[in-house]
Amino acid sequence: MPALTFYLASGNAHKVAELVVLARASALDVAILSARAVGGMPPVVEDAGTFVGNARKKAAALRTKLPPGSWALADDSGLCADALDGHPGVESAYYAGPQGDAAANLRKLTEVMRGVPEERRGAQFHCVLYALGPAGEERIFEGMCPGHLLREPRGGTGFGYDPLFVPDGSALSFAELGDAEKNRLSHRARAWAKLAAWVRAGGAPLGLED
Ligand code: IMP
Repeated sequence: MPALTFYLASGNAHKVAELVVLARASALDVAILSARAVGGMPPVVEDAGTFVGNARKKAAALRTKLPPGSWALADDSGLCADALDGHPGVESAYYAGPQGDAAANLRKLTEVMRGVPEERRGAQFHCVLYALGPAGEERIFEGMCPGHLLREPRGGTGFGYDPLFVPDGSALSFAELGDAEKNRLSHRARAWAKLAAWVRAGGAPLGLED
């Protein structure tokens, strides 16, 4: 039996898929289960105003449904554009409206950024992975990926704003790089690497970080 079970507090199938791949690649002694294993992710209003606050709400909502001894793991993430004072940021999922339409969000960001010159097109993807333990233990892991925004979306893999975002050091967007390369560079991969180091150090099973 794995030393640890994490239930992913997310209804976003793309995020879940990326986290499962990251978990497999890091060969940790953990089981990763989706919220569907416990009847699905309960609805959560993401109004905390920060990535950490929203992630905490998601993990807390799922934790009420979990078997004893397991951890909830939430991902809250978004894209912060320099020229927009960090927007869409925590509102990335609902940038074009409350229905959370990813294609409409991408179109809106493309339009809003249209007149912005090259030197002001810097942006960063942020990811907070928030682990909530059986005794209420909290562990927070943050990852950031710097880059810039294209003028038009490019590429067909990934999700969300991937077609508009080029990570530093690359000429291709996340949606052109493909899943394997995105999973090497992304904000989520960087947050996961910190979580993996913590698990390897024995943090989660012992819960003795403080
Ligand atoms: P939330 O964490 O549920 O608030 O949603 C995060 C939103 O940020 C997603 O719906 C996407 O719009 C965006 N986002 C987060 N991570 C990524 C990514 O890896 N690629 C593209 N868009 C992302």
